[in-house]
Amino acid sequence: SKRFETTDSWVDRLRGNRRYLDAVEDVSVSVERGQTLGIVGESGSGKSTVVDMLVGLEAPTSGRVELDGNPVGTVADRSAEQLAKVGVVFQHTRGSINPRATVRDVIAEPLFESGWDADRRTDRVDELLELVDLSPTHADRRRHQLSGGQLQRVAIARALALEPAVVVLDEPVSALDVSNRAKILNLLLDLQEQLGLTYVVVSHDLSVVGHVADEVLVMYAGQVMERGPTETLFDRPSHPYTNALLDAIPSVSGDTPAASLPGSVPSAVDPPSGCRFHMRCPLAEPECRSETPSMEAVDDARSRCHFASEIAADSDDDSEPLE
Ligand code: SF4
Ligand code: MG
Repeated sequence: SKRFETTDSWVDRLRGNRRYLDAVEDVSVSVERGQTLGIVGESGSGKSTVVDMLVGLEAPTSGRVELDGNPVGTVADRSAEQLAKVGVVFQHTRGSINPRATVRDVIAEPLFESGWDADRRTDRVDELLELVDLSPTHADRRRHQLSGGQLQRVAIARALALEPAVVVLDEPVSALDVSNRAKILNLLLDLQEQLGLTYVVVSHDLSVVGHVADEVLVMYAGQVMERGPTETLFDRPSHPYTNALLDAIPSVSGDTPAASLPGSVPSAVDPPSGCRFHMRCPLAEPECRSETPSMEAVDDARSRCHFASEIAADSDDDSEPLE
């Protein structure tokens, strides 16, 4: 029989995935059972750090991080049982899968680490393959024999192996083409309904997050710029950065070039004065350079902009049908 090859634990693997930590401040995150929280932002926005806090690799310096109504501790504080409650689909799926291991062994990794015997592992992997719509013939393949979509299904099956309550998905479809994106997102929605899963979906792409999330948190330079129900953010955004992310979504046919913001995210370690978005904001006023906006409620959303209410009112006008 073949030797089971285990790689580093998922914690080591996740640590290895992170080159640096972005500073984040004042971020409170809570996810309700059975719901999906989307976190969106460009690279450097701090969204990966929020993921690290959720899975317990980092403790929040300020703010609260809760999953399922309970504050999350760090990995060091958590029991093996608590750790198993969070499944993770890593950002770079190909890199998170051992090239020498078969699909069966990759999916069985968490089971192996939790001490399941070979017979139980086999049965559970068979169930998981079916759950993610892979055929039994995929079980003996290796990484190089799988398409991007199949690899993502393997990663999802592995994340679900120990029946986690919460699954964190970091850029779950960014490596896939458009048709595979829709298939994987729809699979995730089916699994959520079937298994009552709670998701945290992280992406630089607001359209991905909008497809699956109930609530969205828009991050920029280590701060939350806007948060609210997905519908509100799409129909009535109240922050210029959310507007810019919405403008960057290509049309369905893909023939309209996506508008994108010039420039890049400033450092969250040494942030600019005033509003952190002021250098790139099309609506910036002189006061934005000196006065730091705080989060304010705009109906059922919250926004960090001096002009949040006016912007929300404006986007409401925009959405009125033409006469
Ligand atoms: Fe733009 Fe000023 Fe609002 Fe910041 S506070 S997002 S710079 S308008
Ligand atoms: Mg990232």
